[in-house]
Amino acid sequence: MKTISHWIGGKPVEGVSGNFGPVYNPATGAQEKQVAFASADEVDAAVRAAKEAFKTWGTSSLAKRTSVLFKYRELLDAHREEIAQLITAEHGKVHSDALGEVARGLEIVELACGIPEKLKGELSTQVSTRVDVAAIRQSLGVVAGITPFNFPAMVPMWMFPLAIACGNTFVLKPSEKVPSAAFKLAELAAEAGLPDGVLNVVNGDKVAVDAILEHPDIAAVSFVGSTPIARYIHTTGTANGKRVQALGGAKNHMLVLPDADLDLAADSAINAAYGSAGERCMAISVVVAVGETADPLIGKIKERADKLRIGPGDDPASEMGPLITKVHRDKVASYVTGAAAQGADVVIDGSGYTVEGYEDGHWMGVSLLDHVTPEMDAYRDEIFGPVLSVVRVETYDEAIALMNNSPWGNGTAIFTRDGGAARRFQMEVEAGMVGVNVPIPVPVGYHSFGGWKDSLFGDHHIYGNDGVHFYTRGKVVTTRWPDPSDGGINLGFPSHH
Ligand code: NAD
Repeated sequence: MKTISHWIGGKPVEGVSGNFGPVYNPATGAQEKQVAFASADEVDAAVRAAKEAFKTWGTSSLAKRTSVLFKYRELLDAHREEIAQLITAEHGKVHSDALGEVARGLEIVELACGIPEKLKGELSTQVSTRVDVAAIRQSLGVVAGITPFNFPAMVPMWMFPLAIACGNTFVLKPSEKVPSAAFKLAELAAEAGLPDGVLNVVNGDKVAVDAILEHPDIAAVSFVGSTPIARYIHTTGTANGKRVQALGGAKNHMLVLPDADLDLAADSAINAAYGSAGERCMAISVVVAVGETADPLIGKIKERADKLRIGPGDDPASEMGPLITKVHRDKVASYVTGAAAQGADVVIDGSGYTVEGYEDGHWMGVSLLDHVTPEMDAYRDEIFGPVLSVVRVETYDEAIALMNNSPWGNGTAIFTRDGGAARRFQMEVEAGMVGVNVPIPVPVGYHSFGGWKDSLFGDHHIYGNDGVHFYTRGKVVTTRWPDPSDGGINLGFPSHH
């Protein structure tokens, strides 16, 4: 069986802890690989490699960094297919979706190629007589990233390209369920000329994560994953003196007003609820239908959902693949049963679904629940599967109150033809990313991605200007080149004139 190792100091390094985790092909249900789990000592070896590399990378010229990043961008572009295949083989998502993920990750590499523009700093001349003030931003040192299973390539690419462009060195701990794509990203970075030790990958579980959180030589941690773990990472990382941005889970609502184009809204609900089998932090999991909208909208969603083709991600005919594990699939299915018991109408029940020839795959058909209420578990929990709930409300005000009562605030969307209503929504809704007739409003690379409330712990959103800010610290330099007239004693606090 193939074993996925660590990547430390510019080369593959076999795990020595003796602990391994299984890597499944979700479409067949078979364990095809295993991944080494790092001990605290192995994490330390990666941090030492990164610390050593920082001595030269931290002071390398912007020209040197960007020449590597431009080469990296070309290599990633040339290896899109291969990376997408690795994603599909371990995550299960369909190939086109995996390619889309690589493309969105590439956006951040492209942003990183333009880092000189972002690090230009500020200069004020003559703030006082012959005194100039410069504000500059400098790298932090060794920084770490911990990433979730659902975007094996994109989420790591939200982090390390910008971090290393800013002059840091990086230790990445990818999800143990999908380790191969991140390993490939590190291999390609080396091929692009990234010096050894600038980007390291350690595989593992909580042991590796805790070693990162406690390591004195790691200055900052970026995390993306579920809310309970995000909260833990933020609390523990900051208690250990680190800068932390921890992005958590979500329950994204899509508000449909009576004047909306219901065909567009139904298409969008389908794409955003069932794409990637609902395993996206920006998936729409709740449709809030106002007034008379619910019946026709549900009819249109059902009509489309019934036609979706579910199958292995490497079959071009498949539109939706399997779920990540059997345990997760069973948990997702239990929400459908639970919702029925709690009084919801099950319009489509996707549990028990199977695909011929792939009977052991982690399959779940699409599910649609109507008359869901805020007390039900299907509404309260992040299901992270292909289950769409419809909550019926009478008015816009009732809808916004419901949505703002959610503990999460990642993404949200409104579907309407009324510009005034859309504007009111964008100002009133408590979420970090808002779509107007756009169901999955993931910001482009040169803006920043992040939610509110329990969807993000820390002050910085990820990538874009917030990302540059997170991976650098400010310094302000006040300069006066002396002139004989500048002398003299004055014990007062410096003020300018
Ligand atoms: P997860 O929280 O289980 O795991 C994320 C990372 O944390 C993994 O690397 C994992 O090894 C590590 N981890 C897991 N349990 C841990 C523990 N007890 N202690 C320390 N580390 C631990 O998340 P997941 O299941 O891999 O990913 C799905 C979740 O991620 C969903 O909740 C989804 O909404 C969220 N997500 C959020 C965003 C966002 O941008 N906000 C993006 C993608 C995914």
